[in-house]
Amino acid sequence: MTRQVVTRFAPSPTGFLHIGGARTALFNWLYARGRGGKFLLRIEDTDRERSTPEATAAILQGLSWLGLDHDGDVVSQFEGAARHAEVAHQLLAEGKAYKCFASQDDIAAFREQARAEGKSTLYRSPWRDADPASHPDAPYVVRIKAPQDGTTVIKDEVQGHVTIRNDQLDDMILLRSDGTPVYMLAVVVDDHDMGVTHVIRGDDHLNNAARQMMIYDAMGWDVPVWAHIPLIHGPDGKKLSKRHGALGAEEYQKMGYPAAGMRNYLARLGWSHGDDEFFTDAQAKEWFDFAGIGKSPARFDTKKLENLCGQHIAASEDAALLQELLAFRRAIGESDLPDDKKDGLSRGMYCLKERAKTFPELTEKAEFILSDRPLHPDAKAQKNLDSVSRGILKELTPQLQNASWSRDGLEAVTNSFADAKEIKFGKMAGPLRAALAGRAVTPSVFDMMLVLGREETIARLEEAADFEPEGQPG
Ligand code: GLU
Repeated sequence: MTRQVVTRFAPSPTGFLHIGGARTALFNWLYARGRGGKFLLRIEDTDRERSTPEATAAILQGLSWLGLDHDGDVVSQFEGAARHAEVAHQLLAEGKAYKCFASQDDIAAFREQARAEGKSTLYRSPWRDADPASHPDAPYVVRIKAPQDGTTVIKDEVQGHVTIRNDQLDDMILLRSDGTPVYMLAVVVDDHDMGVTHVIRGDDHLNNAARQMMIYDAMGWDVPVWAHIPLIHGPDGKKLSKRHGALGAEEYQKMGYPAAGMRNYLARLGWSHGDDEFFTDAQAKEWFDFAGIGKSPARFDTKKLENLCGQHIAASEDAALLQELLAFRRAIGESDLPDDKKDGLSRGMYCLKERAKTFPELTEKAEFILSDRPLHPDAKAQKNLDSVSRGILKELTPQLQNASWSRDGLEAVTNSFADAKEIKFGKMAGPLRAALAGRAVTPSVFDMMLVLGREETIARLEEAADFEPEGQPG
């Protein structure tokens, strides 16, 4: 029987959930969820100086916005310190680690001499093979006995076999002189104890893997499957900077990208499945595998992100989209909407979601629902409310009043009015948009009429027919 897949996301809470971290989390989530596995979350808060509860909260919030749910409780690495130290003591007892009493000065002197002799400056402690009877009563660190010859091979699912010469590995410290465990030990012990089977993380951790393997080997533990993924670069191929996307997940939420679009885009950032660009979560879970991960850094591309987000908005269920729009409004600090506006949005969602790439764009289209009479037409809309246009609206209004309030009914009345007046529908569209929304760019006039209903539509048309353009009364 194959083991259940267990992945984890292990952020250090020193800042927000940046886009690279979000992608790492997503890859781990997809890999586990697509295989009936578990996706665990561990906060690597051992660096007490740099870890903050605010950062942890921001990371949890970002993951929750992205819909990356984890299994079990959030694990605090710091809280496992006693267990991490216990493993170091076990290695000590088994002779796989040793107490090193070298002082900083001893190490500096060793390095200086090695440099002078043109040798490797990798520290070689004289305490590695010292007789415990010779141990002084002095502070010490615990070091692992690293293999000194041969090679360590990391079998990486993305990078292939990465070979490291063991003579380049030093006897890494496991416990500091105050008895606290180092980060590298904590990661291995936690991954082992949490039953992690697959470690998917940024390739900036590839070097750590070789050192971490020493601990797995010394403990006789199964080494997890490694997958070190290339980092994300900016569109110019340089390291991702704030200017092009190295923002927190929260910022993307506030910019109004839908979470499904963001997931789709992040999945495509360094991973591909044939030519598929737009896909659902279900497809991503089914398709995601290591073979599709590229070896070179992915490039962040806002245009592509927007394009995918637009497709996800268009494909979303109206009710779910309304909920996400309301969550977006809360995230940017907008006040709650009254029920009648929510009802309007709900009725209008079918036309609002077409061709909106973000929630601000969708909101812009929803302006005809969100604003109340008297409308204040913007400059472009005002141009469509000159005296001729107002005259047209005045004549059309009573005819619409008696129309059957369906798309066919409204179209029939408007078209026969245009025929009778020998004007093109296009000529009427501008004034109608201005009257119904106070804007020049809106959903179709019939959609707006249907969403607003007869009474509100007629009231807006009547009001527009009496509109007084600024600076030119009458
Ligand atoms: N805490 C590390 C980071 O935030 C990740 C370590 C790991 O995934 O093993 O970069």
